[in-house]
Amino acid sequence: MSEHERIAVMFHEALSSATSDYSAGLAAEQAQFAAHRVEDELIRMQADIERLLLITEGLWKVLKEEHGYDDDELVRRVLEVDLKDGKIDGKVASQKPGDCPHCDRPLSQDRRYCLYCGEPTPIELFSR
Ligand SMILES: [Zn+2]
Repeated sequence: MSEHERIAVMFHEALSSATSDYSAGLAAEQAQFAAHRVEDELIRMQADIERLLLITEGLWKVLKEEHGYDDDELVRRVLEVDLKDGKIDGKVASQKPGDCPHCDRPLSQDRRYCLYCGEPTPIELFSR
């Protein structure tokens, strides 16, 4: 290999190394940016959960103090809700919307009216 060829090979190696260093640096920067976004979202979700706990606790105090319910009743009701999907696992699995009560054809998840007969779909306040 001539001196000229050796320099050309070194140049190409250096160039490809610099390009892969640049790509790696860019990928690292993008990963860091994505991680920050996830971290921000997590902080927002934790704040939402805390706010929901405060509201739930306030509402429960109203029910206990103004209407005489006790904690055993709440535990029983929570288990009843948890069991809606057939499993006591601390959550209710999302369920398909079922059939239209008017025409018995399958309802669509995010439609307010039946696609087939046009009747309003039943409102499921706590659907997942
Ligand atoms: Zn229908």
